[in-house]
Amino acid sequence: MKSDIRVCSDWEAVHERPVYTLGDACPECGADAVNSAPAPFNPEDPHGSYRRRARRRGNETDE
Ligand SMILES: [Zn+2]
Repeated sequence: MKSDIRVCSDWEAVHERPVYTLGDACPECGADAVNSAPAPFNPEDPHGSYRRRARRRGNETDE
């Protein structure tokens, strides 16, 4: 089963620890929530922009 758990895209700046949510926005700060797997955020992740597009499409097929 795929997980729909997402993490606040801005948690490193706003929170002391990752904030997870099942929605598409952080419940604490309102920032975009992004797919939490495989990593909350990685500047070297070539798929970072892809994940943001996937979120916008509401598409959960990010493997
Ligand atoms: Zn947040």
